[in-house]
Amino acid sequence: MYSFRFFSKLFGIDYYNPELYVAQYRKMARQTPLLYIIVITALLIVAYLNFGRVPSFLSLTVPFVLVVGDLGFLFWFISMPKKASPKTTNRAALARLHTTIWGSIGLGLAHALWAINLFEYGDDGTRGQIAVFIGVSTFGAALCLMHLRASALTIIISTIGPLAWFLWSTGSPAYMGSALNLALTSVAFIFVLNGYGKDFIRMIRQQDILRIKNVEAEALSKANFALANEDSLTGLANRRSFLTELNGEVNNISLGQASGIGVGILDLDGFKLINDVYGHPVGDKVLAEVGSRLAALQCSRVFVARLGGDEFGIVVRAKLEGTELLEIGEMFCDAMRVPFDVGGQMMLIGGSVGFANWQRMDDTAACLFEKADYALYHAKDHRRGSVTIFSQEHEDTIREVRNVDRRMQDADFMEEMYLAFQPIVAPKSASTIGFEVLARWHSPILGLISPEVFIRSAERAGTINRLTSVLLEKALSEAKNWPDDIFMSFNLSMQDITSSEAMVKLIAIVNTSGFDPKRITFEVTETSIMNDYDRALSSLNVLKSMGCKIALDDFGTGYSSLSYVRALPLDKLKLDRSFITDIETDEDAGSIVHTMVEMCQSLKLDCIVEGVETRDQLGILSAMGVEIIQGYYFSRPLSAADALAYVTDEREIKMVG
Ligand code: C2E
Ligand code: CA
Ligand code: CA
Repeated sequence: MYSFRFFSKLFGIDYYNPELYVAQYRKMARQTPLLYIIVITALLIVAYLNFGRVPSFLSLTVPFVLVVGDLGFLFWFISMPKKASPKTTNRAALARLHTTIWGSIGLGLAHALWAINLFEYGDDGTRGQIAVFIGVSTFGAALCLMHLRASALTIIISTIGPLAWFLWSTGSPAYMGSALNLALTSVAFIFVLNGYGKDFIRMIRQQDILRIKNVEAEALSKANFALANEDSLTGLANRRSFLTELNGEVNNISLGQASGIGVGILDLDGFKLINDVYGHPVGDKVLAEVGSRLAALQCSRVFVARLGGDEFGIVVRAKLEGTELLEIGEMFCDAMRVPFDVGGQMMLIGGSVGFANWQRMDDTAACLFEKADYALYHAKDHRRGSVTIFSQEHEDTIREVRNVDRRMQDADFMEEMYLAFQPIVAPKSASTIGFEVLARWHSPILGLISPEVFIRSAERAGTINRLTSVLLEKALSEAKNWPDDIFMSFNLSMQDITSSEAMVKLIAIVNTSGFDPKRITFEVTETSIMNDYDRALSSLNVLKSMGCKIALDDFGTGYSSLSYVRALPLDKLKLDRSFITDIETDEDAGSIVHTMVEMCQSLKLDCIVEGVETRDQLGILSAMGVEIIQGYYFSRPLSAADALAYVTDEREIKMVG
């Protein structure tokens, strides 16, 4: 058993190692022509030397047959199927190696028998020549076959074996010496060839290992590249490659290789709600679908990446007019407007886009990104679901805002902040039922600043909680002078309802004021709640438990999802004034307001409509069943003294009436 395994290893082919046998074939295909040159030359010389001395059968016919056999085998061996698949190549190489081993035995024996037959006719000189030619050419052939150990061994054994045996059997000391010499040389050759064969196998194995390692390393580096530059959820480029792309394009402009660039940011509208309501797996599915829609919009000049969360970056590699950029942005918004089908459930989201167009050399990548970001937030605030291009006007606002931010840092709230109060009216009875408290800031350096600007500035500066406390204290001390049935509506910012310390402070202010908490309404916006739903909800519940009322401000501009409006501890909805502006002319605006009024009625919430400026607006709203109104039609925001005078006068007039 052991000896069988030894022989099959020595004379066999490793069928399970295609890399090895194909390599063996390749090496041999290169060396076999040389082998046949050696063998055929030796054969022709021996035939020539014996021509005329031996029967023509031995000097012509046999050599002719041998040469034809040798050449035939050679041509078959070196010809391979053209453009073959790896499988066919393997099969053909294996067949050739296999035949080579058997062919070596056949051809070796044929050559040896021919030489032995020639011996009978020759004298000592030609006999010696025959032995030398056959011996040397056999060792030469074995050298050429050394990559296939089996065939090198078989050719030595099948040729030298019979020849040495024959020489030995002549009994002549000279031939016996030659036989011994051939036998010993054969042993030495076999030994060396065996060692070489092993080395060759080892080398091919190592080459194979190296090749596999290279393939693995290549795959790994590809995976690393994808990991480092691709977003795994959407398959789009990630933030890192977005920044590389953006920096590269800006660099191209400075090198004169590009003439312009547009940088855009797309932010999904209403995605957070899907995540909160349906969970992250559904959110992920929506994002993946967003990714494939955005990928479809990519082209040679439009590059899209996921920046993180529900934010996507766009680079337009071209110098475009603002209107062209606007068109590209619209395309993105349109793609986000198509309903998303998640497991048969249709979901509606949208997308707002902010774009910055390269204008001048100091527009760096960071600067363009910041401008696009600003334009995006402008879009989100003013025209959700649409595109905003960063403009000169925005630039002026930013400068102004920076100024405000700087002044906000060292503002004395007690001194510089004061309040305005806008009546909230029940038109049916023509009576004021409450006041909304509106903050005012008169900066000694900048003058009067709009609350929309300075509230945000305080939010950025992290001073909003302190500001809200000061305003609430001031508001309560004024509200104490109002008649008992007048409520006070007070605005809270996002950071007020998401900070427990701020809530504790506000509660303490209410409790120490002596003002009935039932007469206080806190106004919060949808966006401020959605930013941190759980904390906001617990803050609102605390305020509710004190007896305060909660109003959802600017309703209709945010997510406006019925399911979460229902889940909040609300008492009132304040319809955003943007719906009222066009109510006289725009039928859609009218029907939206109508739907909202009905929704309030079915949820048993008070509906307050803000921004009523004209009698006609009031008429339409009253017809729809709106019972509480706030707006310039009744009164602009008033100073504390004027507000008090406003209710007092109103009541006096009624008394007189
Ligand atoms: P808001 O809470 O929606 O307040 C209503 C805004 O609409 C007020 O602007 C008010 O003057 C204005 N307004 C009322 N009626 C009409 C009308 O008929 N037509 C028009 N065109 N406007 C009308 P204001 O005072 O400039 O306040 C702007 C925003 O600043 C407020 O919007 C609120 O978000 C914020 N804000 C004001 N005071 C405070 C505050 O004390 N705390 C917080 N966190 N935010 C405040
Ligand atoms: Ca408000
Ligand atoms: Ca409002």
